[in-house]
Amino acid sequence: MKMDLGKIFDLEGESLVVEDVVDLSSVKLSSGIKPFAQPVPVKAVAQNRAGVVTLSLSVSFTLRVPCDRCLEVFEQSYSLTPEHTVVRELHGEDTGEYVVTPDAVVDLDELVLTDVVLELPMVMLCKQDCKGLCSRCGANLNHGACGCKQETGDPRLAVLKQLLEQ
Ligand SMILES: [Zn+2]
Ligand SMILES: [Zn+2]
Repeated sequence: MKMDLGKIFDLEGESLVVEDVVDLSSVKLSSGIKPFAQPVPVKAVAQNRAGVVTLSLSVSFTLRVPCDRCLEVFEQSYSLTPEHTVVRELHGEDTGEYVVTPDAVVDLDELVLTDVVLELPMVMLCKQDCKGLCSRCGANLNHGACGCKQETGDPRLAVLKQLLEQ
């Protein structure tokens, strides 16, 4: 959806609220997975405060992805409230902090996509302490021990561990 901020730029104190649903279902991660199972509701508030136009977004989305450690598919919900300063032309260097739009029109879908992708975690875990898969039999260790003999590791470390436990 396009948001025309022409009026906002012209009038100090003016504001505009837009609610939209952005479809990110075709967005793919580098792994080839499409994580956005549901449409993404967005609320956008544009405001001219003392001549500076800001665009505040509220975005809620649910990711549906396989866990990087145990490979089980899980869902996690996020809420973001990114804020942008919108300018019609850039004075100085493009540091990426401004949304530049000569015709005062902002493409909300594009902006939301950029904001959401920036927030995606590098590592997606079903839970912080996910135990992952057994390196021997491949069992999901979150569901219980698999019965494989655990690696004992370095015997010197085992001695140290014993000492620490006493
Ligand atoms: Zn997991
Ligand atoms: Zn095992």
